[in-house]
Amino acid sequence: MQHPQSTQSRATNSARDYRNVTLKQILVVEDERPIREMVVFGLRRAGFQVREAADALAARAAVANNRPDLLIVDWMLPDTSGLELTRQLKRDRETSDLPIIMLTARSEEADKVAGLDGGADDYLTKPFSPRELVSRINAVLRRGAPVAAATNIEFDGLALDRASQRVTAGEHAVPLGPTEYRLLVFLMTHAERVYSREQLLDRIWGGNVYIEERTIDVHIRRLRKALQEFGYDRFIQTVRGSGYRFSTRAA
Ligand code: CA
Repeated sequence: MQHPQSTQSRATNSARDYRNVTLKQILVVEDERPIREMVVFGLRRAGFQVREAADALAARAAVANNRPDLLIVDWMLPDTSGLELTRQLKRDRETSDLPIIMLTARSEEADKVAGLDGGADDYLTKPFSPRELVSRINAVLRRGAPVAAATNIEFDGLALDRASQRVTAGEHAVPLGPTEYRLLVFLMTHAERVYSREQLLDRIWGGNVYIEERTIDVHIRRLRKALQEFGYDRFIQTVRGSGYRFSTRAA
């Protein structure tokens, strides 16, 4: 390509660096407290950011509120079964690419097949060591990464190549800073949906970072400015009283 040394490629590098230092976030869904605490403890020690849910309902709320990088789901839950929760998440377009590792007390082959058929990415039988769980998590995260990163998205000539982290408008590279890039990736992969400032902060900066909601407006403004030259700023729409949305339709 003709833009290897542009500002855009420098921005791309810093976006990648940022992602490498971000802790992976795991949601542990298990009702039995001793097991949940053992898993949480092991994962925190291994350097993961961990959240907990004691049933399927709490798990769905936690995923909707702040999407984790991976879920550990126990088969036996008090409300909906772990298998059904996995099926629901894999059916939903928003969460279908979320990696899930299932836990079960039973080692029957039939269960393993059912778990994997339900959409689980891996399967672990109790009792297991935290070390074994960590190695499975790392394997699943490695497996998932290139597939998710390779996705190309295009709307009316505005194209996003997540493998090379390039944004182009027809023939031209669109120079974006790392935050504007991540903002655009999020909005383009969730087109036609309205997100509040709070939701955007959660999804793009992660839930544990304290940033003023108005910061979002600054980055939206920069993103629009970068897209304006190519006439694509109209895709980044303000929805009064609610937040922002990416749409190719008139606001
Ligand atoms: Ca359980």
